[in-house]
Amino acid sequence: MIEEGGPEDEETDAERKMRFLYALRSRGVTDTRVLTAMERVDRGLFVRGHFAARAYDDMPLPIACGQTISQPSVVGLMTQALNVQPRDTVLEVGTGSGYQAAILSQLCRRVYTVDRHRRLVREAQFVFQSLGLVNITAFAADGSFGLPDQAPFDRILVTAAAEDPPGPLLAQLKVGGIMIVPVGQSDTVQSLIKVTRGQTGYDYEELRPVRFVPLVEGLSSD
Ligand code: SAH
Repeated sequence: MIEEGGPEDEETDAERKMRFLYALRSRGVTDTRVLTAMERVDRGLFVRGHFAARAYDDMPLPIACGQTISQPSVVGLMTQALNVQPRDTVLEVGTGSGYQAAILSQLCRRVYTVDRHRRLVREAQFVFQSLGLVNITAFAADGSFGLPDQAPFDRILVTAAAEDPPGPLLAQLKVGGIMIVPVGQSDTVQSLIKVTRGQTGYDYEELRPVRFVPLVEGLSSD
């Protein structure tokens, strides 16, 4: 008789990681620097409770404050589209769990990340510290205004959906810089937009349909 569910059927950490990387590649994440960063940073550290068991599945998962940690393949595709360079200073709007910021921190000189929920910023800072990710600075702020004191940025990544790319973020992008932002009028129909700032204006390219939580005005009370 063949017994099922014995210890020999359980996936090892190495197998889980292989499956994770395979899912990323099969969904179009091919940049080796991005794949290496995603192999290094353990997504399980950014997810709490019983959801941690699903950390290596290619799906978004709930985090505190009613928010979500994005699907790993979407994190990979956005990071790849951002084309981050080693000397870059990057702004992320929407810290959430901190996972996306941790991936960015592997690829550039400095990451600034902001979230409107103080609790999420606090919890993400704790994980950054425990991983020794000293090149990330996290702030509680309304990220639609960017971070004027730290601007301009080589790259800006927005991980919540705006109706239009926010004006202050466009203004805080360096000439030659790239911003990736989900844009949509509703929760269900959004497109990932790549904005490139040229000498004389902005170029807009539509990348793919996506689904993100909305960019909300103002700081939250928690
Ligand atoms: N990048 C995150 C997932 C982001 S979920 C990760 O890797 O886990 C989107 C986040 O955007 C939420 O945490 C939400 O609180 C935040 N957000 C929404 N509107 C915002 C705003 N105006 N300023 C800053 N953060 C905002």
